[in-house]
Formats: sequence, structure tokens, C-alpha cells
Amino acid sequence: MVSLQHITKVFNKGEINEVRALDDIHLTINEGEFLIIIGANGSGKSTLLNIIQGAEKPTEGNIKINNVDITEIAEYQRSKWVARVFQNPNNGTAPDLTILENFRLAALRSQQKSLTIGLSTSFKKRVQENIAALEMGLENKINQLMGSLSGGQRQALTLLMSMMDHSEIILMDEPTAALDPKSSQLVLNLADKINRINGKTLILITHHLKDALQYGNRLIQMKAGSIALDLNTQEKRQLTLPKILDLFT
Ligand code: ADP
Ligand code: MG
Repeated sequence: MVSLQHITKVFNKGEINEVRALDDIHLTINEGEFLIIIGANGSGKSTLLNIIQGAEKPTEGNIKINNVDITEIAEYQRSKWVARVFQNPNNGTAPDLTILENFRLAALRSQQKSLTIGLSTSFKKRVQENIAALEMGLENKINQLMGSLSGGQRQALTLLMSMMDHSEIILMDEPTAALDPKSSQLVLNLADKINRINGKTLILITHHLKDALQYGNRLIQMKAGSIALDLNTQEKRQLTLPKILDLFT
């Protein structure tokens, strides 16, 4: 469970370009939730994710995961709780390393075990099995360089890495923005599966309202640093495309 209390983020405080990106946010995200975040540009969506991840510190307020106050915990120490998939498929993976080496790196990052982790044949097998389930034909290409793959393939693999590591919460900030429709669908279907089958908590920011309708079991709309709307599973089910379009006008 993630809980944000009184979270405020002010950039350039006291200066002429001061921005109140988040304004006294209260939000509890339960375990196993698949939360969709929509909202206009500049409404604070990415800042919210940055604060959960630890890439930004709140100006005020605190954040807890499973009742542990992590407000002061650095980003690199939060990986046991949170993983992140970025908008740009180049972020989060090393293009000059092979697929398998990227999976090893991800495992090392999140598990803080000995350097031998990920060198075993069982690890390799587990990676291959997981990649095979993607049905992209990549399971026999694990020694290929990550940089040689398409954006969609890389996003799907990044998501798979966060699924295999032990972090409970996966943050996705417009992960399909750079992808073609087919790859987008593949990545979001994978996210959905990871939520339903592995029970991971997912937070997805999207500009694609159709995706916002189709995926997730809770939806919030951000407006000028506040949560303007918070729909639970039942309420979200009643949502239609015209209704969701209305929210933006
Ligand atoms: P969204 O993701 O919804 O488009 P952001 O969270 O990126 O919105 O930004 C919210 C507001 O905070 C915007 O006005 C943006 O310009 C501002 N902002 C975001 N990051 C910074 C930063 N590092 N420095 C100054 N202002 C920022
Ligand atoms: Mg953003």
C-alpha cells in the first residue's frame, strides 16, 4: 500500500517562476490496484510518480509504503518497493548489453544480493521462459544487444524485468507514447497480466483515453496539482469515451 499525505511540491519556491506542481495531495493506493492517471499537460502527473519513486522530494507531506515512512529514503534505496518504466524505451535499459545481461543488471539492482546473481543457468532459464510468454520470438535472442530491438520490444522487456524483480509497485509514465498501436497494445496487455496474475500494484499515466477506459481498475484525473476525480472499479466501468472526453473540456 502506498499512502501520500499532504504531498505538496513547489518548484522554484519564492522565485518569479514558482510552480505549485502538487497541492496537498492525499492518495492511498492499495496493493494489487491498477491505477490509471489522466490529466492535461502540466497537471502534475509525472511529478506525482517522481515523488513515489524518490526522484523528487516533496516540499511538504510524507509518503509511506506498507506503513514505512520513505519520504527521506533515496531513490536508489527504494527499488525493493518501486520499479519504473519510462516513456522513452531507451531509458531503463543498457543498449550495449545483451537482453540477458540487462535482466541480470535489473536483478542485481533490486535484490542487492551477491554479484553472482543472474549467472546461474536457472536464472537464464527463468528469463527465457518469461520472454517466451511474450510471444515476440525473443526467447532465442537473449544474447542479442538490447539496442538492436524495436521500441516496443524494449518496453515489453523493461516491464518484464520489473515484474521479475521484487518491487511491488510498477510506475509507468506514458510507456506507450513512443510506440506504434500494436506494440502499445502488447505492452499494456502485459501490464494487465502482471497486475492480474502477479498481483503487482501498477500506476499508469496515459494520454490515450481509450487505454484509460480499457485498462486498470481505478482512475484518477489530475488538474492543476490536485486530484479532480477518483473513480473506483465500479464507477470506472460506467465510464464511456464521450464521458471521459468531457472531463477534458
Ligand atoms: P504532467 O506530467 O502532468 O504533464 P508535470 O508533473 O511534469 O506535469 O509538471 C507539473 C508542473 O510542474 C508543470 O507546470 C511543470 O512545468 C512543472 N515542473 C515539473 N518539473 C519541474 C522542474 N524540475 N522544475 C520546474 N518546474 C517543473
Ligand atoms: Mg508528464
